[in-house]
Amino acid sequence: MIINLHKVNLKKKYPLQISRGVHNKSTNLFIELISDGINAWGECAPGKTEGANSIDIAENSLLDFIESGIGSLSIYEVNKKAKDLNIPPCAFAALDMALWDWKAKKSRLSINDLFGLPKPSMPTSITVGINPPEIIKERVEELITNKEIRALKIKLGSPEGIDFDKEIYEQVIQSTKNSNISIRVDANGGWSLDDAKIMMKWLSDRKAEYIEQPLKEGDEDNLKYLFKGRPLPIIIDESCRFSEDVVKHSQYVDGINLKLMKCGGITEALKILNTAKSFGLKTMIGCMSESSVAISAGASISGIIDYVDLDSHYNLDPDPSEGAFMQNGITMTSNKYGHGAKLKLDNYA
Ligand SMILES: [Mg+2]
Repeated sequence: MIINLHKVNLKKKYPLQISRGVHNKSTNLFIELISDGINAWGECAPGKTEGANSIDIAENSLLDFIESGIGSLSIYEVNKKAKDLNIPPCAFAALDMALWDWKAKKSRLSINDLFGLPKPSMPTSITVGINPPEIIKERVEELITNKEIRALKIKLGSPEGIDFDKEIYEQVIQSTKNSNISIRVDANGGWSLDDAKIMMKWLSDRKAEYIEQPLKEGDEDNLKYLFKGRPLPIIIDESCRFSEDVVKHSQYVDGINLKLMKCGGITEALKILNTAKSFGLKTMIGCMSESSVAISAGASISGIIDYVDLDSHYNLDPDPSEGAFMQNGITMTSNKYGHGAKLKLDNYA
């Protein structure tokens, strides 16, 4: 097995501000795994909250892990070893999705067919970052000229406080009043318990479909006070990384948002989905600053997920990879074997 790593700089079309800061560029790490004449692909979007706040940490831990010997192990054993050795999940996700890509290609199947899953069918939401109302107006009104788009995810929890959040949201409602687009809200843990109570009531009167991560990571004990009598469904994201977190918080949430970069790839993602469904929870899949490779890996399992937020590649200038595309508002994989995506090697070797 030959493993090549490629570092690629990504630039966003529109900077994305969330409650914790602004992102306008990143460097992602791509794995090209070659064995038996088959080339398979994986991608790591490093992130502080995902165990590696720089590309070098992700690369070094991945190289150390590969050198520790994984050749004779099954994907499930590789997954367990990575968890035991505390490999950053975002780094490990790249290897995990490349291994599944390889396995599916070897079986001459797409990943969704390999697992017996349906193709993606839920439209993706498109994320709108925290911005002053005049920028929100410009951005939302431009986005909805694309008639394929059926859902927006509005980032709130702004450092300026909930009055500013309300201004942002009111502009979104104003700008979308003539369309029947779904509106979801992600506070990224930017609210106190009291702010969250006020905002959830306020948003529930204004078309919001659900609220994602109202309280900050570490504040999960307060979820029970928010859950009782909640006017909107609560979905946790930062508070839920692995399947064991689903069990821990299942009593006081309506759903969980999984991300391949948070959990370490497709292997753990399937476990999270099964656990969440067995607790009767709604499921969602989101993304970090990912290109088409990681997005396609996520889309490969999105056919059994209730809410899809696989949109980061649409905001890249340019997307260094090819494979994922939008059809009727749904983020689709290509019809190729595996997850169907790859880095455009000619441009980024
Ligand atoms: Mg989120």
